[in-house]
Amino acid sequence: MVLGVDVGGTKVAVAAVDGVTVLEATEDRTITHTTEALLDGIEAVVRRMIDKVGEPEAIGVGVPSQIDYATGTVETSVNIPLTGVPLREELGRRFGLPVFVDNDANCAALAEAHILGEDNLVMLTLGTGVGGGVVTGGMTFRGAHGLGAELGHVTLNPDGPPCPGNCPNRGCIEAYCSGQALERDATELAQDKLDSRLATAIGDDGKVSGRELVEAAEAGDSDALLIFDNFARMLGVAIAGYVNVFEPDRLTIGGGLSRASHLFLERAIQEANARALPALLRRTKIALAEGGADAGVIGAAVLAGQEVAAQKAARYSKAARDND
Ligand SMILES: [Zn+2]
Repeated sequence: MVLGVDVGGTKVAVAAVDGVTVLEATEDRTITHTTEALLDGIEAVVRRMIDKVGEPEAIGVGVPSQIDYATGTVETSVNIPLTGVPLREELGRRFGLPVFVDNDANCAALAEAHILGEDNLVMLTLGTGVGGGVVTGGMTFRGAHGLGAELGHVTLNPDGPPCPGNCPNRGCIEAYCSGQALERDATELAQDKLDSRLATAIGDDGKVSGRELVEAAEAGDSDALLIFDNFARMLGVAIAGYVNVFEPDRLTIGGGLSRASHLFLERAIQEANARALPALLRRTKIALAEGGADAGVIGAAVLAGQEVAAQKAARYSKAARDND
C-alpha cells in the first residue's frame, strides 16, 4: 500500500491506494498564504491518513508545478507557493518515508494509462491552461530533468495570440485551446458586436466567462458556436501532431473543459482525422478521460509504487552482482 497525494490550488487530496484501487481517501483545503503553512497543511492531512491506514511503503505527490524530478525540487509554481522548495527532501524528512514528487498532469496521465491498462497514452488536460502527459511503455516520459512534457506549449501559429501565463511564445496550443483562450475570444467578439448575445453576457469584470460562453453555445448562439468551432479545429490540429509523434494507443482528453466536450470533441476528431498520418491515426483511440476525480491521487500512488519496485529491483541486482 502506498499513499497518493494530489496538491491542488484549492484542496489537498490524499488516498491510500493498492494498484489503482483507492482504499481510503480524505482531503483538506489547500493553505496557500505561506510555504510553511502549505507544507504543514499537507503534513497534517497525510498524517491523518497514516493514523487511519498505517505506514505506507512510500508516498507519491502530484503538484501543479514544474519539478526537477531527480531531486524533487520545485522549479516554478504559479498557483501555490512552492517555487524553489526541495519538496521531496522536505516531505521525506517530515515522514521518514520515501517520497516522490511529479507534476500533476504527468500523474493524471499515468493514472489514466494504468486504470485503462494502456501502455502508450497521451493525455491533454484542457482547463484554464493546457497541460498534458505522455506515458510510454507504462512509464511517464519526463525529458532529461523532469520538466517535460509541456504539451500545451507547442506552436500552432507563430503569429497567433500571446500565450497566457509565463510563456514567452505566441500561438501555442494553450493560446487557442484553453479556458483563458475561450474567454478572450468571447470577450473580443462581444466588444466588437454589441448587438450579440455574448455582449449581454459581459460581466462586471468586463469579460465574458467560460460558463456564459458554454450556455450561449448550448442555446445555439451562432457566435458562441463559431468560437467553439475554431477551438475544436485547433485542438484537432494539435491532436494530429501528437498522434504523428507518439503513435499512442489512446489519446485522452481531460481537464475541466472536457465537461463541455459535446461542443468540440467530435469536430476536433474530424479535424485530426483529416490531418494525421492515416496509418498512425487508425490505431489510436481518441476519447475523454475515464480516470475521474481520483485520477490525481491514483497517479501519484502509481508513481510511488513504480519507484519502490524500481528500487527493490536495483537492490536485488546489486546483491546478485556482489554474490558473483
Ligand atoms: Zn506557450
